[in-house]
Amino acid sequence: MNLRMLMYLLHALAACNLPCRHAIATAYAGSIYPVGPMQEWDVPDDVQCVVVLPPKGRKPSGRPPKKRRPSEGEEIVHRKCGRCKGLGHNRQKCKAPISLTD
Ligand SMILES: [Zn+2]
Repeated sequence: MNLRMLMYLLHALAACNLPCRHAIATAYAGSIYPVGPMQEWDVPDDVQCVVVLPPKGRKPSGRPPKKRRPSEGEEIVHRKCGRCKGLGHNRQKCKAPISLTD
């Protein structure tokens, strides 16, 4: 849609006084091609015989594995809890029962 068409549309809308579908349809007439009913489509033979299949394979469930392999000699730091000194969680996720004696 060029500027002249836009100006035409604005004038047409002003003349209609309210959003007029006809004015919009007229302004877009040259730039939008309606597809029409499926029976009238001109589909080439080589396209008509193509069968579209869904993609193969499934997305694996769960978090994907880490790509980075630790370097030689690198120590893997396991999460240590500051509350119960247990490994694999921190104090925010600690499930150890609260001691009543401390
Ligand atoms: Zn803990």
